[in-house]
Amino acid sequence: MTQSDSLPNEIRHNALLQLLANSLVLNHTTPYLSSYDVLNLAATSRTSRYIVYSTPHIFSRLDLTTVRKAQYIEEKSGRGGEPDGDLTEDDVYSGQLRRIFKSLRCLDILRHVQVLCLDGLSVTSELVHEIIADPTYSVKILSIRNVKNMNEAKLRAALQYACRPSRPEGTPRLKGLYVFGPRDSDRPALTSSSSGASTPTSTCSSMSWDSSMGDQDPEAWYAKRGAQFPQVLGGSGNATQKWAAWASTLVACHGIIAFDAVLCTGPRHMNSRAWGTVDVEALNAASGTPTAKDISIHAVATHSLGGCAGCGSAPEGWTIWGEEPPSERDPYERRASEGGTLVTDIGRYPLLAPPPVHSVSLKSAMCPTGQSVYTRLSQFRSKGEQARFIPRCYDCIRDRYCAGCNKWWCEACYVGPWASLPGHGEVSRQKIADLARVSKSCWECGMNCRDCINDTQRMCNRCGGGYCLIHNEGSNHTTCDWCSARGRAGVRHPELY
Ligand SMILES: [Zn+2]
Ligand SMILES: [Zn+2]
Ligand SMILES: [Zn+2]
Ligand SMILES: [Zn+2]
Ligand SMILES: [Zn+2]
Repeated sequence: MTQSDSLPNEIRHNALLQLLANSLVLNHTTPYLSSYDVLNLAATSRTSRYIVYSTPHIFSRLDLTTVRKAQYIEEKSGRGGEPDGDLTEDDVYSGQLRRIFKSLRCLDILRHVQVLCLDGLSVTSELVHEIIADPTYSVKILSIRNVKNMNEAKLRAALQYACRPSRPEGTPRLKGLYVFGPRDSDRPALTSSSSGASTPTSTCSSMSWDSSMGDQDPEAWYAKRGAQFPQVLGGSGNATQKWAAWASTLVACHGIIAFDAVLCTGPRHMNSRAWGTVDVEALNAASGTPTAKDISIHAVATHSLGGCAGCGSAPEGWTIWGEEPPSERDPYERRASEGGTLVTDIGRYPLLAPPPVHSVSLKSAMCPTGQSVYTRLSQFRSKGEQARFIPRCYDCIRDRYCAGCNKWWCEACYVGPWASLPGHGEVSRQKIADLARVSKSCWECGMNCRDCINDTQRMCNRCGGGYCLIHNEGSNHTTCDWCSARGRAGVRHPELY
C-alpha cells in the first residue's frame, strides 16, 4: 500500500491532470495510448477535455491498426465483399475508414494527423489518393503495409501523379510511405514486448535503446543483411514484375516521397554513382547467366549488403547515414530544387520501421538506431560507428552473392566464372563450378559460397548421393536422410523402402 492509495479520488485526479498539463509528460505518454483511450481521457472531465483538445498535436500520430471499427469485415456486407447497386468497390472496401475519417474531421482532429498507420486494414488506392490530395488531410508519413483490397497499379499511378513535374508548389504533403516491409505486429520482437511501453526503435535522439535491442529483429538495411522483404520475394515470377513496376514509381518520387525501400545502387543502373565505371559487356559475357543482359535501368533494392569480400566496399561505395549527399546522378537529371536540405535524403535513405512514435519528422523515420537525427553530426563518427549498407537488387548480385552467409564479391573484384576462359568452347561444368565464387548445390539453399557449401553439403557414405544437412531433414554428417531412415526402419518395415 502506497500513501497515494489512501488519497481521495478527487485529489488523485487533480494530481494526474496537473501532471498531464505538463506538455513534456503529455507528449511522451499519449503516443503509448490508443486514440480511443485519448478520447476517453478527454471525456473524463472538463479540464482533461480542455487539456486534450487544446493540445492538437496529441493527435499528430494516429494508429488505426488496432481500432476495431477500422477493421473491414467481409461477411458484414453480406455480399462477400462484392460491390453492388450504387456502391462502388471503393465505398465497400474503404467505407469503414472513411467513416472514421469523417468523424475525426467533425472533431477537428483529422487535420492534425501527420503520421497515419493503416497497416493490415482494408485500404483502397482511391483512399490513399484522397489522403495525398485532399487538403483536409495533413498526413506526412503514411503506413500501408500488408493492407487488403489495394490495387497496387492504381496506387503507383496515384503516387506518380502526386509527384508529377507540373504538380502545384508545396505538394504533395506526403513525404514518407511505408509499403514494402512487414507490418510491425508481424515482427516477432515487437509482439513479444510485454507492455505498451515498448521502446521505439527508430526514434533515435542521443539516447541509445541498445538495452532493449537484445530480443529484437536487427534493424532493416543497416543491421539486417541479405533479403529485406522475404515475404514479398516468396512470390517468384509475379514478384519480379511487381518490383520492376515499383522501380519506376520510386524514380518518379525520388526527392519527393521516401519509401521503406530504396533504389539499387549497382553500377548497371543509371542512378548509380558507379554508372559507366564498370564494363557491363564484360560482366554479361562472363556471368554465364542469360538473363544478365536484361537488367533494367532502375531497380528497387531488395537486399542489403556489407562490404565486398574482396575490397570491403562496392564500385558505388556505401550508403552512409549522415554522409554529405554525393553528386549522385538524379534518375531524372533534376536539380535538387524542392527547397529544404532534405531533398537529397529522400530516396537515398529508406524509412525504418516502426513509423516514428514521438516525432513526425521524416528524418527520425529514417534515422538508424543509435545515430543522430542531425545528420551532419554523424560525419564525426568513426568508421566503425557509422550506420551504412549497400542496397542491391537481386539481378545485380545473382551470381556473386551467397545467400547462406551474405558474403558477396563486387563487379570490380570478380567479373564472373567465364571471364578467365578465353574461347568459351568446350568447358566442363566442373571447371565453371570451380571458377564460380557461388554455385547452387541445394535448390533450397540457393547460391552459396564454397565455405557454406562445405558446411552444409555432404556425400552419403552409403549411397554416395549428395545431400544438404539443413534441407534433407533426418540426414546426419555421414548418411543422407533416405539412407538414415532406411537404416532405422529397415529392420521393421523393409518392404516400405
Ligand atoms: Zn570488391
Ligand atoms: Zn541492381
Ligand atoms: Zn556463404
Ligand atoms: Zn540446403
Ligand atoms: Zn545415402
